[in-house]
Amino acid sequence: MGGRDPRSRALRAWLIDQARRLLQSDGVIPRCRYCAGELDLDLPGRHSDGPAMDHDLALYDGGDELDPANCGLLHTRCNSAKENRRRAERRLEAAPKPTASRVW
Ligand SMILES: [Zn+2]
Repeated sequence: MGGRDPRSRALRAWLIDQARRLLQSDGVIPRCRYCAGELDLDLPGRHSDGPAMDHDLALYDGGDELDPANCGLLHTRCNSAKENRRRAERRLEAAPKPTASRVW
């Protein structure tokens, strides 16, 4: 699932750029926030090992898609794994939550 806002693409590019800079200047290996494995910043986002954007507070929980402080990088496959686990957990939550309270 991609971002809803085209600006989120720019934010992802910015995050990758930041990670690349840290790697070049300080030798900081970019790591996936989910599995802590190394991220290959040169892979395209659609590649399973490529860098995808993660949100600390998920968008459907009201997280800000465009707040850099709410974002980080993970593998595309880890993003899917996280998403799947999250969905499974939500299915287990018995009481359906009202969705109308969301502020748009
Ligand atoms: Zn990972």
